[in-house]
Amino acid sequence: MTEIRTRFAPSPTGYLHIGGARTAIFSWLYARRHGGKFILRIEDTDLERSTDESIRQIIEAMDWLGLDYDEGPFRQTARQDIYRKRIDELLDGDHAYRCVCPKETLDKKRDLMMKSGKKPRYDGTCRGKNIKADCGEPFVIRFKTPKDGETVVEDLLRGEVRFNNEELDDMIIARSDGSPTYNFCVVVDDSDMKISHVIRGDDHLANTPRQAVIYKALGLALPKFAHVSMILGRDGARLSKRHGAMSVMEYRDRGFLPGALLNYLVRLGWSHGDQEVFTLEEMKTYFDFGAVSKSAAKFDEEKLLWLNTEYLRAEPPQKLAQLVAPFLEEKGVKAELEKIEKLIPMLVQRAKTVADLASGMTYFFIDNVEYNEKAATKFLKPAVAEPLKELSSRIGNIDFSSEENIETAFRALIDERGMKLKELAQPVRIALTGGTVSPGLFEVMKALGQAKCVARIKTAGEYSESGENVN
Ligand code: GLU
Repeated sequence: MTEIRTRFAPSPTGYLHIGGARTAIFSWLYARRHGGKFILRIEDTDLERSTDESIRQIIEAMDWLGLDYDEGPFRQTARQDIYRKRIDELLDGDHAYRCVCPKETLDKKRDLMMKSGKKPRYDGTCRGKNIKADCGEPFVIRFKTPKDGETVVEDLLRGEVRFNNEELDDMIIARSDGSPTYNFCVVVDDSDMKISHVIRGDDHLANTPRQAVIYKALGLALPKFAHVSMILGRDGARLSKRHGAMSVMEYRDRGFLPGALLNYLVRLGWSHGDQEVFTLEEMKTYFDFGAVSKSAAKFDEEKLLWLNTEYLRAEPPQKLAQLVAPFLEEKGVKAELEKIEKLIPMLVQRAKTVADLASGMTYFFIDNVEYNEKAATKFLKPAVAEPLKELSSRIGNIDFSSEENIETAFRALIDERGMKLKELAQPVRIALTGGTVSPGLFEVMKALGQAKCVARIKTAGEYSESGENVN
């Protein structure tokens, strides 16, 4: 059996977006499932739009997702000699010809064809002329596309896809500066790199017959294809910014876990029964094109968030601590990894992202809590000034090692003052955290420690009295 070899072939004209990542994942998984090889090829022949920064970003995003490749990255710009040789081979075999038609003439003919309702195409003026390289005029090289018959390609999703050769143009395979064009380079590369399965977006389906005829002319065997459907937004429109982040790295920056995004993207168009959460091993074992949908998949950020929550809860606190630290640093908060790790079990049930974890623990590591303005106005009123100050002084003298002790002191005070729990709980929460949402109050108090609680509750008491932040 021939080895399964797949590739991801991004054009480095921007970041790795969600759609590209999903194609890469399918291609990677297919190779992994079959013990084959996954190859990274950078299609950078469009010199004006390709940048080294995009290459760096694409590789960084692939690394982050864990898409390891066995060969590459190969760059098309470094393979020009290989393409040139193949072009000569086509010219020698009468499968290609030089064309000197001036651009203006082509444009005019094109306009005429469009006006008469015909599909614009090259009319073959130079096809039979046998123009030589020393003709003294600038020329492009065109592929001599067969005029009749059909081209059949095998697609793992669509079965046999048939194209009428009549529909195909004599496409340009080398521009007048000698640089080879996309459809030609892809054929040379896929065949040189012994790609057995070309897995790519179905926006490339129209290119496939054009590539197939070049394979044939070069006497090369066709690979198998899988054209994966597009990703749409939840509303069925083409995926765009307004449906959520488009770039893979933006998800990292928003505190998503790579495993969750990977899992989400794998399930986008592929299913295995109704299983939603997959280990890496399960993905590698089960992934197959038989269960990949032909219709467009819909991107649903809510579901991604749900999956991320699942992954977050399953991650060891020690690992999460390492992920949280840079998010805290970003906020200018310095914290030791050990301390972060200790807080995670308390916070992880309420967090959906690593960023949530970081914002949920910021108040543990800062000296002065900033009150949420609305919350302070609503809850830190003169009536709670005295109970807050009294609580601060009482808890200074208790054993803080158990939540029960703290709760007992708190309850004794509200009972004496005839207050309901929440009448004092919310002011205390604001005193300690700055806001009205946190894990259980006594849990937070214990985690914060006696000294910080005493000081913060006292400060809030003074604030309530004067209506001013005296921090
Ligand atoms: N470079 C192409 C793109 O980024 C992919 C071509 C292919 O996979 O054949 O869309």
